[in-house]
Amino acid sequence: MAEKSLHPDTLLAHAGGGVDPSTGAVVPAILPSTTFVRDRNYKLTSPAHLYSRDDNDLFRQIEALVADLEGAADSRLFASGMAAVAAVVRSAKPGGSILVQSGIYWGTTAWLRKHCARNGIALVEADATEIEQFCETIRETGPALVLIEVPSNPGLAIADIAKAAEATHKADGVLAVDATAATPLLMKPLALGADLVLHSTTKALNGHSDALGGIVSTSDANSDAWTFIREERHDAGAVMGPFEAYLLLRGLRTLGIRMERMCTNAQAIAERFSTHHRVERVLYPGLETHPGHELAKAQMSGGYGYLVSILVEGGAEAALEVAGRLNLIKRATSLGGVESLVEHRYTIEGDATGVAKNLLRFSIGIERVEDLVADLEQALGRK
Ligand code: PLP
Repeated sequence: MAEKSLHPDTLLAHAGGGVDPSTGAVVPAILPSTTFVRDRNYKLTSPAHLYSRDDNDLFRQIEALVADLEGAADSRLFASGMAAVAAVVRSAKPGGSILVQSGIYWGTTAWLRKHCARNGIALVEADATEIEQFCETIRETGPALVLIEVPSNPGLAIADIAKAAEATHKADGVLAVDATAATPLLMKPLALGADLVLHSTTKALNGHSDALGGIVSTSDANSDAWTFIREERHDAGAVMGPFEAYLLLRGLRTLGIRMERMCTNAQAIAERFSTHHRVERVLYPGLETHPGHELAKAQMSGGYGYLVSILVEGGAEAALEVAGRLNLIKRATSLGGVESLVEHRYTIEGDATGVAKNLLRFSIGIERVEDLVADLEQALGRK
């Protein structure tokens, strides 16, 4: 294993591991076998390998690497970001309450609403950027779990993690932060007081739009929540496949350099288009005019992420026209890949969340920024 004092980008480039001593392989092997043999005395030939629902060396390598990056006590991979969200949410027992930030990834909100209704859990949705009011809601409702998303998708809202953690702990709850839009390179929620941090690895951690996955990390490997999540992964089995784990580890090797380019591109695009005559507003925490900019500056380092939302002058129709005119930036859902994507979130969410009808969410990739700017310029229309 590599030394912990190495820079995260260096750890990532080496996939957090060394050369395989038995073969000299620089790249770890994919092991598709689901089961492992016992000897004549019924002892496992390799004690760490019984059955592949949990015993996958690639999982272990990725989990150790991500735990290092997060400053976490332990991590677990899941089959998708939603499987990771579900494991975290299920750690809150039926009967109590859960507080979730409003205006976050619609898939999480939609599933939470169904899950809580089915399991007798009171779901409270509140704006986490109004942090004093949010903490008051924590005091009033005493949720077993508080789930926030920083920065939020697609609103790019910035919630105060330390304040939310303090209020949650006073109420004996668990604070989980979905930091998919930041990655562990830009923000460390556990150091700010969160108990759990999760990512959809489908996004920037893999970064190539070719493998689903999710990961949860904890500050306390002995907590009740972590015991549940660990057992849920093992027993309920929402595991990643070995080929996806291989792709994820390969993607992670270049996370540092990809994030550098994606953040620089996103910042440049946000600045360039915030004064465009066809743009009502650009939502990006790296803009000094963003209401959460100072907080983002304090909580993040190395950039403000790869998501930029643009509110187009003229409503839903105008936004869809702009999306339709893009030539390079692809009209597709998801985020965090090397190629830039655009999505009209109102088409997906409708009126269920209050998302602005004229909002286009851009996931900015690693292309040369002048090509992205030119595509956006022609789609928005010059003066
Ligand atoms: N969390 C965030 C912030 C997301 O944007 C997404 C997907 O877009 C998810 C979780 C769910 O991840 P997955 O699609 O890998 O299940």
